[in-house]
Amino acid sequence: MPLFEIGQEVWVASWGRTEYREVCPDCGGSKKAVITLFDGNSYDVACGNCSSGYNPPSGTIKLHQYAARVLLMTISGIRTGCGMGGVEYQLDYSGGSCWSYKDTDVFLNQEDAQVRAQEIALEKNTYDHDRFLQKEKQDRTWAWNVTYHRQEAKRALQSYRYHMEKLGLSQEAEAKFPSKVKK
Ligand SMILES: [Zn+2]
Repeated sequence: MPLFEIGQEVWVASWGRTEYREVCPDCGGSKKAVITLFDGNSYDVACGNCSSGYNPPSGTIKLHQYAARVLLMTISGIRTGCGMGGVEYQLDYSGGSCWSYKDTDVFLNQEDAQVRAQEIALEKNTYDHDRFLQKEKQDRTWAWNVTYHRQEAKRALQSYRYHMEKLGLSQEAEAKFPSKVKK
């Protein structure tokens, strides 16, 4: 059953966030990791934890700091029996935006909303920090990258030797090769 009614002013437990950067826990800001394969050879590889997409690693990770925030809002709609079976309130915030909040985050007085808002901020900060420390499968990806590049380099070297031989050039002719191509 809804505790509040449409048109009523209530305090809502919410949060605000600011962005900050932390030194990457995998590479310690060096932007690279060393992978040692079974044969004892070590390779420097670009850190996969602090790079996003095709961008090179930055040595830092973007994180968010969440802070408790309470808002005075007016209830403009009530939905019951949705999701987990709880009550959801639609609330109008000054500025014309409409948000919806679960009944567990809506309160009659500001102090109760503040307590809940602090809980939410703590949960979010803990979650973000735990994810920051998780390495997931990065090590495997890096090892796979090293194996891949090693195979490709070997293949390219074999191909290079083959074509040099077909051209009747020794491998030592490599340095002179560009001038021969120009003719
Ligand atoms: Zn890194």
